[in-house]
Parts: sequence; C-alpha cells; structure tokens
Amino acid sequence: MKTLEKMQYVAVIEAGGTKFNCAIIDENKEIIAQTRIDTTIPDETLAQVIVFFNKQKQAGYNFNILGLACFGPLDLHKNSAHYGSITSTPKAGWSNTPIVSLLKEALKCDVVIDTDVNAAAIAENKWGNAQGADVAIYITIGTGVGGGVVINGKPLHGLIHPEIGHILINAPKGIQGVCPFHENCVEGLASGRSMSKIWNQPAETLSDDHLAWDIQAQVLGTFCHNLLLSFSPQKIILGGGVMNKPGLIDKVITYTEHSLSEYLTLPDNVKLKDIIASPGLGQHSGLLGAYALTLNIS
Ligand code: ZN
Repeated sequence: MKTLEKMQYVAVIEAGGTKFNCAIIDENKEIIAQTRIDTTIPDETLAQVIVFFNKQKQAGYNFNILGLACFGPLDLHKNSAHYGSITSTPKAGWSNTPIVSLLKEALKCDVVIDTDVNAAAIAENKWGNAQGADVAIYITIGTGVGGGVVINGKPLHGLIHPEIGHILINAPKGIQGVCPFHENCVEGLASGRSMSKIWNQPAETLSDDHLAWDIQAQVLGTFCHNLLLSFSPQKIILGGGVMNKPGLIDKVITYTEHSLSEYLTLPDNVKLKDIIASPGLGQHSGLLGAYALTLNIS
C-alpha cells in the first residue's frame, strides 16, 4: 500500500458548456475528490476551479499535471500563438479564452488539452468499449452533437480537429434542421436541444412510440453510414444523454444497415452491432478522458 505522499495524483477537468466537472484522480484511476462548477463566464468559473484545486493541494493531493477535456472549438496547434485557447464558440464570453495558459499559471502545473470528445474517445479506446480498435470514434449526442476520432492510439487533429457533429445529411422528409450555421447537419437534427425545438417539447418527454425516435434513428443511421465509409472505424461509440433512450441504439444499427444496403463487406464474424456500441465507461468517460490525456503526451 502506498502512502499518501508516494501516490501520484493528477488533476482533471471535463469542461462542458453547462458544468466544469473537476476532480483529482490517483494512479489507480480512482476519483479522490470531485466538484461540479457552473459554466458561467470565464473569470467566475475559472476562479472557482482554481480554488478547488488549490484546496486539494493543501489537503496533500499534490499534482504536477492537469488533463483538460474541453468543449471547443479549440486551437490545438502546438506552434500557434493561441495554442490552448477556446476559439470562436457560440458560448457567451468564452471565445478567445486562453484556458491552458490561465490554468497553467494559476496552478503552476503542466496542462494537457484536447476536445472533450477526443478525450472520451481515447478513454474508451484505452479502457472502455473501443479497446483494441485501431480506429475508434466516440460520438456524444446530448445538448449538442460532437465526435472524436482516435487512430492508433492518437487523437485526430489535422487542420483543426474533427467537428463531425456538423456534417451535412439529408433530413428525413418533412423535417428541418435547426442549427444556426447549417441547414441540415447532424447536430441541428439530432441533438437533445434540436429535438426539443423540432417537436416543440423537451426531448426527454417524447413518448416511446413518438415518431421523433424513428426520425432520430434514421438521422443517426445515416451519420454512422458516413462515419463507417469515411474513417473505417472498428468501433463507433454512441454516448450522451439522448442515447440513454432504451432501444435507440438498436434502431440506429438497423437504419445503418438499411442505409449501407449491403455495400460494406465486413470482415468475417464482425457484425454492425459489434461496431456500433454504447460507452463502456458510462458517465466517467469525460473525466477518464481528461486523465488519459495526461498519459498520452508525446
Ligand atoms: Zn451545424
């Protein structure tokens, strides 16, 4: 048994549009301390984040690295003058926030950042339902829709980073997407917020037999079709609050199959239901994703 002083601790933040979920995690991936702070404006939220982590240091949970799984879009180019900043987000007050440098300076530690969904994809690939996949995709369908891609253990960045929640698809007949930027993108059709707007009632109050769920499965089936053909993933993990709807994932798989129309020849013994799966880490994929970032430094 290691003593408190010998144990290595890591600070982690799952920074979302409504909450900053902050925690100290030990080397056994156990959450030692945790708090949730409202996402208001940067000054206010980050001040509370800093108070929480300084308190943990005083309690003996010293750390020299912080993993930050953050809502985006983010500047992740190491050579950019704005590396580690939230760039042009519709989230009021947060555009051009240099979140990495602010936290680094205040907490006197290294900060590793990636998108919340890239981080969750890494965690699912390391410890969850996407283990063993060379190409793994994590999709969250919650208030918004976002996706992260991991290839051979590394998150995909490229030009910026994937924003696959906003790829365009044909809307089912009679349905109009509500994204302010695009006519018919996945987020504008299938996020919880979009569903509430399209059907004029909160998504969580839509009855099990409501047409909305069939439309949802069609949209997400088309989405999975596109992802399978674009990235050739061995796993697509569908997470987020909307996916908690019982039976939805099975419907999505059925529609994906229908949409592919036997075009894709899968390897022997691999079925679509083996590829399209629920998260294995449940509600911890965000925090464990932030933790995974600290192990993934290259
Ligand atoms: Zn959009």
